[in-house]
Amino acid sequence: MAEFDCDVAVIGGGVTGVAAGIAAARQGARTLLLEPRPFVGGNATTGLCLHNYVTRYGRQVVFGLAQEIVDELIAMGGAVGHVPYEGFTSAVTPVDGNYFRIKTTEMLARAGVQVLYGATVVDVQTRGRGIESLRFAAKGGLHALRARNVIDATGDGDIAAMAGVPFRKGDGPRERMQPISMILHFHNVDTRRIAAELGEIAPAMASRPEGGEPIPVYFNGSFSKWNDAIMAEGLFPNRDRHVFFNTVWPDQINVNTSAVLDLDGTDPVQLSRATVELTAQCARIGDFLKRHVPGFEHSYCIPAAIPGVRESRNINGRYQLSDEDVLEGRKFEDTIGQVCFPVDIHAPESSQAIFHQIGGDGAFDIPYRTMLPADYDNLVVAGRCVSATHVAHGATRNMAPCLVMGEAAGTAAAMASAAGGQAGTLAVQALQDELLKNRVYLGEAFAHRTETHV
Ligand SMILES: Cc1cc2nc3c(=O)[nH]c(=O)nc-3n(C[C@H](O)[C@H](O)[C@H](O)COP(=O)(O)OP(=O)(O)OC[C@H]3O[C@@H](n4cnc5c(N)ncnc54)[C@H](O)[C@@H]3O)c2cc1C
Repeated sequence: MAEFDCDVAVIGGGVTGVAAGIAAARQGARTLLLEPRPFVGGNATTGLCLHNYVTRYGRQVVFGLAQEIVDELIAMGGAVGHVPYEGFTSAVTPVDGNYFRIKTTEMLARAGVQVLYGATVVDVQTRGRGIESLRFAAKGGLHALRARNVIDATGDGDIAAMAGVPFRKGDGPRERMQPISMILHFHNVDTRRIAAELGEIAPAMASRPEGGEPIPVYFNGSFSKWNDAIMAEGLFPNRDRHVFFNTVWPDQINVNTSAVLDLDGTDPVQLSRATVELTAQCARIGDFLKRHVPGFEHSYCIPAAIPGVRESRNINGRYQLSDEDVLEGRKFEDTIGQVCFPVDIHAPESSQAIFHQIGGDGAFDIPYRTMLPADYDNLVVAGRCVSATHVAHGATRNMAPCLVMGEAAGTAAAMASAAGGQAGTLAVQALQDELLKNRVYLGEAFAHRTETHV
């Protein structure tokens, strides 16, 4: 058994962990990131849009590291920027999932983060108000890790749950969670024809970074035209099935429509069942689209490497983001960033997507307290599992909020470590000043505290 020691331990290398790791290491913290899979990026590697940087009124509120990643992706041809869309959101940010993985792997290395792949945390030891050490399984067996500050970026809140932090699951007493889905990647498609056949409204159009004619990069719609064939073949249990498309290429497209209901992504047996069912669903959907839908005739379909869990545990932190906080676009003194994607709930009983817009000026703040468990001081919980109600989680679970939370968590953990302290007792004003310096947008109320922001 090997023993590891660091200032900041980031557990999980999805979008949240990637941002947390880069931010912590840039602050000078000795940063270790543990990730079970042989790649970072989590759900972003499946090629989804980074929702969302721009409010429904067309104002960008997400900047900082989240914007830097998009800029870097544009430079390598893996993104096309923030593209106007006249649907449930005013702009979309499509990226190539593999480029996201390549770029963030490189950014972590450049920042000096030590990433251990194949590493799953299985146990934590606590003492008083602290996480004293963690045990993780990796090549060679079980290993020990001590860190001054720990960031739970596992999506599922595994570390918090192991430490006994209270949490809730799903939509209330029945604990029904949003469905688990697997994205399908198609090669050799005609995206213009697909957009014309399936798009509900005009697709978001953008030119690739190297130039050329605009191509459809995002659209959503439904399979209503094929209801009869779908029901006859038993492809989906419901008619008028929703579907979401995105791409940054003229001849490739990602399709988000598969789903399994009533499974808990924190249960290994249920998650494995989801993987088997979704892999089979992807094959059936791929075959159906090829046979029925213009634009897919010559396509080649690859299921994403991982099933995507939309919802599992959300911790009960020092503050729980409420339905009203999100729906009224509330602002908080201890904000660590503004975010703006609408509440996006794929109904637990049907998988059909329901959106609720953010009120006020179209953006809400994420209070630092939502990332802090009440009973621990050196644990920060960021990303999908942050403290939020079922409805509020519908707005925080998307990737721009996760990047914002990750950057704040990494910055806080590193600042606290540098002072020999704990993130849970860090002065939030100092954290905000550091975030502002790094071009994080905290809202108009903070304009007087920064000269650098646009
Ligand atoms: C089907 C689907 C479609 C979606 N569409 C969009 C979209 O279009 N746009 C958008 O912005 N968002 C979308 N989302 C939401 C978004 O992708 C996720 O909520 C977000 O990526 C979560 O990021 P995360 O870093 O918190 O978690 P994850 O990406 O889940 O990362 C968590 C990481 O922690 C690791 N981990 C887990 N447990 C442990 C452990 N015990 N020890 C060590 N490591 C561990 C995992 O391997 C994983 O890499 C979608 C989600 C799904 C499921």
